[in-house]
Amino acid sequence: MKSINELHRIEPELLESIQEQVREVIQKGWFVLGERVQEFEDRFAAYTGVSNCVGVANGTDALEIALRSLSTHHASRVATVANAGFYSSAAILACNATPCYVDVDLDTATMSVDHLAESLSSQEIDAVIVTHLYGTLAPLREIRQLCDKHQVALIEDCAQAHGASLHNQKAGSFGDLACFSFYPTKNLGAMGDGGAICTNDAALATRIRTLRQYGWHPKYHVTESGGRNSRLDEIQACVLTLKLPYLDRWNDKRRQVAHRLNEGIQNSKVVRKPTLAGTSYVAHLYVLQVDDRQELIRHLKASAIPHDVHYPIPDYRQPPILNPPRPQDSEMLPPPKLLKNTEELSRSVISLPCFPWMSDEDIDLVVSAINAWE
Ligand SMILES: *Cc1c(COP(=O)(O)O)cnc(C)c1O
Repeated sequence: MKSINELHRIEPELLESIQEQVREVIQKGWFVLGERVQEFEDRFAAYTGVSNCVGVANGTDALEIALRSLSTHHASRVATVANAGFYSSAAILACNATPCYVDVDLDTATMSVDHLAESLSSQEIDAVIVTHLYGTLAPLREIRQLCDKHQVALIEDCAQAHGASLHNQKAGSFGDLACFSFYPTKNLGAMGDGGAICTNDAALATRIRTLRQYGWHPKYHVTESGGRNSRLDEIQACVLTLKLPYLDRWNDKRRQVAHRLNEGIQNSKVVRKPTLAGTSYVAHLYVLQVDDRQELIRHLKASAIPHDVHYPIPDYRQPPILNPPRPQDSEMLPPPKLLKNTEELSRSVISLPCFPWMSDEDIDLVVSAINAWE
């Protein structure tokens, strides 16, 4: 194994049909927002169980445009987690809004319901972004209830949770808006960048379609400010439509791999293994929490086992949050609070290979390497 996801191992028959259909797109000569995008949007909306899906250029744009569609502006506060790679923070800052960080649970690394309840009661929050990290659904029912109680919009970040479900309801159908990334390594990945926003709210969907293309509605008539160019292209849509029927099968394989890794790995220096929560976990990443990560990384390098850290630095420790560029007369924000569990996770998490095409031999290699770490 050379990476934790080995994308080149894609099924040969799938690759062949992609090559064939991409050739057709090229021959047709229509490349951005066309029939293929419309077809993918329809299929992905049906798969997710929502009435609208709007394709955009990537997952971070999806978050930003979702926020803009809710009229997020410089005085808005958006609750989010700080352990999820800065994507939601980047989108919030792009709207000139303020992120309000909520701590996570150690077992799932997703948003803590208690901490969210506390944030919603103690501050004016305009929207909540909940991230289904590593492929694990956050506690959606409880979070939905809290948002309803405080009349706050809920945005799901499903970039790591395509196809995850709770009582047969899919990730992306719980929030007022749900954002997806189709970056190549995601559970449903394009062969380049891509993203989408799902919603049951037709008015928001229209607004999002307007915002993704300069604010035009119709063409050349700007009816919304804050418009962008953030479009999905025909080639990526074609790849995604062909891959979508494989998604559930791939998620099953990922879960099996995670299961076997969990069973095989026995080492007292492993503090926590992933919670395999049935279909509400789609094993986007297999993440261990360990005592001495630096030492394990040295050991994995020596054993030639690919690995990565998702994510090493809490968002509030990154420069744009620590030293925000603010106009001189604006109020100084207090220094961000350190969140206990977020801090602990940033020191202890490590991701190991986990992908649908992982062989028994690959799994055994990873298990023996971790068990041989002393
Ligand atoms: C990948 C990812 C994103 C961003 O998606 P891009 O397409 O890379 O912009 C957002 N949120 C999460 C949780 C992600 O994993």
